[in-house]
Amino acid sequence: MTTPHNKLFAPGPVEVSPKTLAAFSRPMIGHRGGEFKALYGGMQPRLQTLFGTKQPVFLSTSSAWGVMEGAIRNLVQKRVLCCMCGAFSDKWLDVSKRCGKEADPLQVEWGTPITPEALDEKLATGAYDVVTLIHNETSTGVMNPLADLCAVLRRYPDVISVVDTVSSFSAVPIAMDELGIDVLLTGSQKALALPPGLAIFSVSERGFARARLAKDRGYYFDFIEFQKNQADDMTPSTPSIGHIYALQSKLEDIFGEGMDARFERHARTNALVHDWVRAKGFDFFAPEGYRSKSLTCVANTRNVDVAAWLGRVKKQYHFVVDGGYGKLKGKTFRISNMGDETEETVGELLIALSATLE
Ligand SMILES: *Cc1c(COP(=O)(O)O)cnc(C)c1O
Repeated sequence: MTTPHNKLFAPGPVEVSPKTLAAFSRPMIGHRGGEFKALYGGMQPRLQTLFGTKQPVFLSTSSAWGVMEGAIRNLVQKRVLCCMCGAFSDKWLDVSKRCGKEADPLQVEWGTPITPEALDEKLATGAYDVVTLIHNETSTGVMNPLADLCAVLRRYPDVISVVDTVSSFSAVPIAMDELGIDVLLTGSQKALALPPGLAIFSVSERGFARARLAKDRGYYFDFIEFQKNQADDMTPSTPSIGHIYALQSKLEDIFGEGMDARFERHARTNALVHDWVRAKGFDFFAPEGYRSKSLTCVANTRNVDVAAWLGRVKKQYHFVVDGGYGKLKGKTFRISNMGDETEETVGELLIALSATLE
């Protein structure tokens, strides 16, 4: 008996298309040869366009946390302020401390956004030289007001900004250079719908200048090492070549569809989910104006047995929806519209959710 394929509508990892999987499993090539350099070098212009940067874009064979921790080790000299509004952003404080850095929280209640006023108040103390921020807090479905927060950050030129866009990258426009972001990073298995195991990031000139001052950058996530190798279209150590083929294939998809069309598709599929939430009498965990465009964190205001219900969805329809992250388990559930989902596929999911609800 073959196991049925359960399609992932959870907010990471998300469903990977057969085209991407075929690219992922292509035969290996050497990572110091011309074929690899052509592959990586050839992807730079599209990666830079997606990042909205003139800076080089790096590929790290790690999940996003590798680069998130790397950013701390490369950049924090004085003290880091961690903007915290959910499971992923909260953890950055702990990671910073484990790296031996002085770190403080800017903590808000889960389900609410980081406000420009609160950030400004903290930065005005002059205590910080790095800020960590998660654009789209995947655990709560809150999308922080990135442009407004970056406007505050630009008033503090000695503060380096590190922005995680793991679950929003390529789903909404993000312009690194225009916003003045110093480190922009994303991971493979969420908004990009690639297999887990690759992180993609870029660093500003200011970021490199700060990194050069750090004596204990280590090796694997040393930003200067990435910069040196990328100048030669290479990665510091042996990369996951399958991921790089998969990313190349995904870039074909993204630019074939068109970036604007991709953003609009995400807006439409997100709106479909929102309509369903309202029609079924649920509520949103995130407040109006701060709701993610790539996933929906639904407040279980009807008090349904989420685990049992989503179990039925999986068993009868082979769709996987997440039953809430950490302390929000059962109180919320999360529906992803990241990656390749269309109105048709999201529509199929919503029919399945409705049919199994009672
Ligand atoms: C999933 C996620 C991460 C962690 O990614 P890993 O791939 O587990 O390292 C970080 N930030 C956000 C916003 C995420 O959604």
